[in-house]
Amino acid sequence: MHYVEHVADLVGNTPLVRLGTVAEGIAAPVLAKVEYFNPGGSVKDRIALRMVEAAEAAGELRPGGTIVEPTSGNTGVGLAMIAQRKGYKCVFVCPDKVSEDKRNVLRAYGADVVVCPTAVDPDHPDSYYQVSDRLVGEIEGAWKPNQYANQHNPESHYFGTGPELWEQTDGRITHFVAGIGTGGTISGTGRYLKEVSDGRVQVIGADPEGSVYSGGGGRPYLVEGVGEDFWPTTYDKNICDRIVAVSDADSFAMTRRLAREEAMLVGGSCGMAVVAALRVARELPPDAVVVVLLPDGGRGYLGKVFNDSWMASYGFLPPTEGATVGDVLRRKDGSMP
Ligand code: PMP
Repeated sequence: MHYVEHVADLVGNTPLVRLGTVAEGIAAPVLAKVEYFNPGGSVKDRIALRMVEAAEAAGELRPGGTIVEPTSGNTGVGLAMIAQRKGYKCVFVCPDKVSEDKRNVLRAYGADVVVCPTAVDPDHPDSYYQVSDRLVGEIEGAWKPNQYANQHNPESHYFGTGPELWEQTDGRITHFVAGIGTGGTISGTGRYLKEVSDGRVQVIGADPEGSVYSGGGGRPYLVEGVGEDFWPTTYDKNICDRIVAVSDADSFAMTRRLAREEAMLVGGSCGMAVVAALRVARELPPDAVVVVLLPDGGRGYLGKVFNDSWMASYGFLPPTEGATVGDVLRRKDGSMP
């Protein structure tokens, strides 16, 4: 019989899938590391597991303890899953702009979700940073992973994602491309790949236009999970050889192509990373091997990047794209191009 005791035992060892039509005309293979195959649905399961186990080993998280983190997304799901496996409670703090669906996902895993107003300064007592600090101070046995400063975040990639890629490509990987949020993925995976290849592997960061990593001043962008307006300590500035800035429009167009042409329903930061990877790959000889990491699945973005009216409201699609019954019938009898 082949089984595991718990879904949390399935974190990591995600597959590599070669990109097809979106990489047409490119000589080198472009391979996607598809992180939605993790049991919580994203790359963040990796950091959740390692941060929790390190906190246990250090005595910072004890039986009956509570994990408190200001997060609304993938990190929350990963932490909630590991907490359930290990018997901890979870409290997540998120701003009120976070969708009801996202909060419900965290509650479904058994976490408590505290919602804070978005329209207050970070040092206001009701801001989600301040509220999470207060909860950590007042809940007995509370522990805050702090993914933006916890070195076990990049280490989960140094000891996991990096070695997996080296093994999966038989040491032939030449370029690694990933988006940068906390910077954990690119710093940890990149450091491992550079060390193991004696500096041969090139590391390319993908960043939304406007974010600090590509020289922006923190101008807003719509792609989620990547880009920052500050420099987190989980990001190692010495790892990236190059940073490619990608617009929201290009990121979302590629995200939709990945679903439509590669049958991979993924999030907007995946489209962004693929745009950067293809720009890099286009310049490379056929013996190069490019790997691009796709952090999460697309189910969490059905109301945004996969919603034609949302896309049209930002000018990413012409307002007429949604097909009516009439459109479909006209197409069928050949009266439309
Ligand atoms: N994409 C998504 C959807 C994410 O949630 C994250 C994590 N914030 C990233 C990309 C970036 O990963 P990292 O934090 O490791 O830089």
